[in-house]
Amino acid sequence: MDTNKAWHMETIIAAAAKKLEKNHFKAITARTSAEAVNHALGLITANESVGAGGSQTLIQLELIERLAERGQQLYANKPGLSAEESLKLRRQALNSDIYMASPNAVTLDGKLLFMDSIGNRASGMIFGPKKVIAFAGANKIVENEAAGWARIRQVAGPLNSRRLKLENPCATTGICSDCDSPKRICNIAVTLHKIPRHTQYYVILIAEELGY
Ligand code: SF4
Repeated sequence: MDTNKAWHMETIIAAAAKKLEKNHFKAITARTSAEAVNHALGLITANESVGAGGSQTLIQLELIERLAERGQQLYANKPGLSAEESLKLRRQALNSDIYMASPNAVTLDGKLLFMDSIGNRASGMIFGPKKVIAFAGANKIVENEAAGWARIRQVAGPLNSRRLKLENPCATTGICSDCDSPKRICNIAVTLHKIPRHTQYYVILIAEELGY
């Protein structure tokens, strides 16, 4: 990676981590995906079940595969499931010991932003599993909440609609039109201002571009 870009990513994740700590999250910084995966594997014990929300970042990290290799009890969506099976798995994931997903944005004042279609990811990141591990690449760091919601409309919404092959207008135009589509992915907006009480909360920030 370009050394200036690497410096910038490392610097902004360190700044966001500092503010996340101030908001009582346990923030961990990683220079690479491999480092982030090793941190996560160290936080998950062999007898803990793990649920995962839909996340391009998790796909890129290949963490689910690493956990499956070591025989972890997993509740993570996989290709080929029927809509009913997939929904059942999403519900089971909310009863796991640990929940993992990625926020859509992390602010430089230490907040986590989520925009959900169904709400399973946001639910798992708020209450249920005793331990949460959130992953975010440096590309998801924004100045403040307003910039975070703008990022979600301009980047995450169109790219996730396209990734998931959803017939939302932004999947074609690349621009949010605040649609009324039945498959709209921007139904539930959640901001974690500070750590939810009663949840052990880790945020792993990675100095790479990951997810949308
Ligand atoms: S509101 Fe609709 S058009 Fe806008 S980003 Fe979300 S799914 Fe796309």
